[in-house]
Amino acid sequence: MTIYTYTPDLMRPLCPICGAPVPQDTDTPETPWQGTCPAGHSHTFQLEDDEQEQPDDRPGVSAFSGSAGELVSAYGARLVGQRIDTARKATYPGGVAEVLQLTPDANAPEICLQVRHCATGEVIGIFQDERVRTAF
Ligand SMILES: [Zn+2]
Repeated sequence: MTIYTYTPDLMRPLCPICGAPVPQDTDTPETPWQGTCPAGHSHTFQLEDDEQEQPDDRPGVSAFSGSAGELVSAYGARLVGQRIDTARKATYPGGVAEVLQLTPDANAPEICLQVRHCATGEVIGIFQDERVRTAF
């Protein structure tokens, strides 16, 4: 018995005879299954298990704890839209906030992040030396 393999980027395997997509009627495509193409060719197919190890630190924002300035130099514009854990100061409660923009005021470069607090909606600037953590 020949098993025809296909890769996960193909939604459906192709018939080895006529090249037509073969409807998949199994929920476990990793085990060989019988499929029939629209022209009636029956074959055994199996989803190729070529999962590669995904490194945890692929491009993007990963776990970080340090000063806001370090966070910005590490990730730059990728931070916009991300949530970070911010420190409490004055009336600002601290906690999870969403990054709105980097260096919101060109005249005050020491403010390296503008964030909106996720619970209160308060918008504040984060100074370079403030401690932050990424939070998801
Ligand atoms: Zn066929």
